[in-house]
Amino acid sequence: MQGYILKVQKVRDEDCIVTILSPHKQIKCYRFYGARHPIITQGFKLDFELVESKSFLPHLRSTMHLGFSWLIERERLLVWQNFMRLMADHLRDVQESDEFYFEILEMCAKKFHRQNPIRVVLESYAMILKFEGRLHIDTSCFICDGKLNEQVGLGRAFLLAHPECIGKNPLNYDSVIKFLSTASTAHLNDTQIKELYFILLEGF
Ligand SMILES: [Zn+2]
Repeated sequence: MQGYILKVQKVRDEDCIVTILSPHKQIKCYRFYGARHPIITQGFKLDFELVESKSFLPHLRSTMHLGFSWLIERERLLVWQNFMRLMADHLRDVQESDEFYFEILEMCAKKFHRQNPIRVVLESYAMILKFEGRLHIDTSCFICDGKLNEQVGLGRAFLLAHPECIGKNPLNYDSVIKFLSTASTAHLNDTQIKELYFILLEGF
């Protein structure tokens, strides 16, 4: 099987619980420590086998990292691992997952090599919001219900508010709407995408 390592939690000694997103499900499995076992690193794509266990989680065996060249670039890896952590939190209660999520990671992993990683994850997140029917292109503030003006502040899941209602830096309304509706950041500058990225880090 293949999947992306969303999360690695150390448990007693050097064993760990590994959460993997495969095309159709999210798998939680147990990894026994062994000096000759390859290391399991969050964010990597993994080829693996599962051995069912009657008592507990299935055991993770025969693993092989399927690397991407950019994984050795620290900045890219950090953005990628943040994205994995957000995805793991978002899907934490999900077992059968729609292939959409796996495909999003496949697409991101391919784009990470050449493109600004922050742009890649923001654009992917806009697609996730659309897929989940959570894309709110509103003209009123989600906090006070008042009409929005030229400047907006964004809450988690990019909900729109007055900057003063939410206490966030103001962004141009039309630019934000263009980003959300087209899932493109091409019209945004680096300061703007960083602002959006910090909001994304609050959670899906
Ligand atoms: Zn408001």
